[in-house]
Amino acid sequence: MPLNETHDPTLRSWVESANLPDADFPIQNLPFCVFRHGHSARRVGVAIGDSILDVPDYTSLNDLAARGRGACSELRMKLSRALRADNPYPPKALLYPMSECRLDLPLEIGDYSDFYASIFHATNVGSMFRPDNPLLPNYKYVPIGYHGRASSVVVSGTPVRRPCGQLQSGDHPPVFEASRQLDYESELGVFICCENRLGEPIPIEKAEDHMFGVCLVNDWSARDIQRWEYQPLGPFLAKSFATTISPFVVTMDALDPFRVPRFHRGIDPQPLAYLDCEGDRTRGGIALTLEVWLTTGKMRAEKIEPVLVSRAGFDHMYWTLAQMVTHHASNGCNLRPGDLLGSGTVSGPEKSARGCLLELTWRGTEPLRLPSGESRTFLEDGDEVIMRGYAESATARRIGLGECRGTLV
Ligand code: MN
Repeated sequence: MPLNETHDPTLRSWVESANLPDADFPIQNLPFCVFRHGHSARRVGVAIGDSILDVPDYTSLNDLAARGRGACSELRMKLSRALRADNPYPPKALLYPMSECRLDLPLEIGDYSDFYASIFHATNVGSMFRPDNPLLPNYKYVPIGYHGRASSVVVSGTPVRRPCGQLQSGDHPPVFEASRQLDYESELGVFICCENRLGEPIPIEKAEDHMFGVCLVNDWSARDIQRWEYQPLGPFLAKSFATTISPFVVTMDALDPFRVPRFHRGIDPQPLAYLDCEGDRTRGGIALTLEVWLTTGKMRAEKIEPVLVSRAGFDHMYWTLAQMVTHHASNGCNLRPGDLLGSGTVSGPEKSARGCLLELTWRGTEPLRLPSGESRTFLEDGDEVIMRGYAESATARRIGLGECRGTLV
């Protein structure tokens, strides 16, 4: 996709907070959201600086998504012009302070699938359970995924209850108790826009046409429940109790200046032909950085700031979003507007780039030390996990994904 006037790094908005250099939502971003102000009904909006502009053209983001990438790009152009500092008729009556708004889930999510696209995550987790053979033989051929649960996807800020489940250790029979190994997973989510019909695969050259935009995903995971239940059919109750997403959909258009070649495979086998094309080779990656921050109840009581626990680059993912979309639809499975695909835990090669506690504390053997004097192997009640994401480049305006927050209760 060529860049256009909406990406011009010199553009400024009449919403002054959008012009601050570290703003997540400058006029070059324009992510969509669904919000309520006071007792109003739900409305579609676009985030700009510390505010939300009402977008009366659409009643739901599923409607906008269903119209496809072209409609999204047209609306983006219109909003960019309306929000520019040189607009003689700024629509100020449509602007609401974000602090006065309640943000809802951005789309109605029909189906949620979760992938496993970081080879660093897959290798780390695999080596804990199979030191001699960390990567299963299918990994470099198949973008591994499973069907998740859409009904328990919640928006940032929703408290998450620690689940109960079957826990089993040693030679003992299982017990049904509260999970003791509650973890987060830092992921990127992609929302589907236009539908492929049932029975019709999505060629990889067209995969980006089916992507609406991205959000942050915390795929909460109960590791002790997972270990006992996952064979042979994969994750089930260890994952489906909650998944938290950020409220903003950063469109694929907004990400255009940050597209990079996909992860270089070195001597690994090249992807099968249906998962390979020139466009995906040269622009399949996204130079996005994902961060995980943590606070505990004690830290908040002692007014200690949240601490950064990991930072990972999405350009280190083995499989691209396009490959995940194409693989998902390759058997003819239809993906519909509002469907959410999770990337899987985003981890990089460094220790500081491990996107879940299972990896970061190496299955609990290397506890995380916190500035309050506390330590963590897995999450305790009252802990709040804060995920942030942003894209930076020398030639484009920095944009952010906002925050994905959840407190464990
Ligand atoms: Mn996951």
